[in-house]
Amino acid sequence: MPPLALCSRPACDFRIELQDRKTGMSISAPSICPKCEAPMISVCPACGFLLIQIPAGKHPLCSVCRADIRSAFARLVFGVHRRRSPKPAEDPFPSDS
Ligand SMILES: [Zn+2]
Ligand SMILES: [Zn+2]
Repeated sequence: MPPLALCSRPACDFRIELQDRKTGMSISAPSICPKCEAPMISVCPACGFLLIQIPAGKHPLCSVCRADIRSAFARLVFGVHRRRSPKPAEDPFPSDS
């Protein structure tokens, strides 16, 4: 199975195989979805592995680490934006059992 690139948008089902089936040549992943212009995901945002054998669906799971690829990607993007703010002052979920 060739690796895939997926559109990061749950509403969009665009995906592309990153290998030409006839020639075996690898194809570079587009950075932007040609259908909806959302960013494409070509490696698992959680473990960094190539996306291989990803089932179709709104919430495809990484075959390596079982992360929800689209939510992990959304968290990653969100996390980058939030990293500007200083560390949270207190733990919202204190674990004093
Ligand atoms: Zn798309
Ligand atoms: Zn993974």
